[in-house]
Amino acid sequence: MISVREFQNMMHRIYFHRDSERGAEDTFKWLKEEVDELGEAMQNADKKALEDEFADVIAWLASLANVLAIDLESATLRKYDHHCPKCGSSPCQCPFRITKT
Ligand SMILES: [Zn+2]
Repeated sequence: MISVREFQNMMHRIYFHRDSERGAEDTFKWLKEEVDELGEAMQNADKKALEDEFADVIAWLASLANVLAIDLESATLRKYDHHCPKCGSSPCQCPFRITKT
C-alpha cells in the first residue's frame, strides 16, 4: 500500500519527462478520454477492464497534477479532512441528490 503522494511521485518518475512536454491542456484531454472509457467499462460486467480504467483515470489525474505542480495528497486532505467540506460532518449530512445538477 502506498500513499497518494507516493503514487503521484511514482507517476512523476515514470512519466513526467513526457507529461511536461505534452503540457497541461493535452494531458487534461487524455484524462477526459480515460474518464469516458471508465464510463464505457461500467456498461460491461468485466471487472478487470473496469479496474484497468480506474487505474488509467488515477494515473492521468496524477500526471495532470504533476504538470500543474499540484500536490494531490495535500489538496485532497485540505478539502476532505475526514469530513464533508460542505456540512462538516462524517458521514455527510447534506441534502441527498442523485444527480450533479
Ligand atoms: Zn455534507
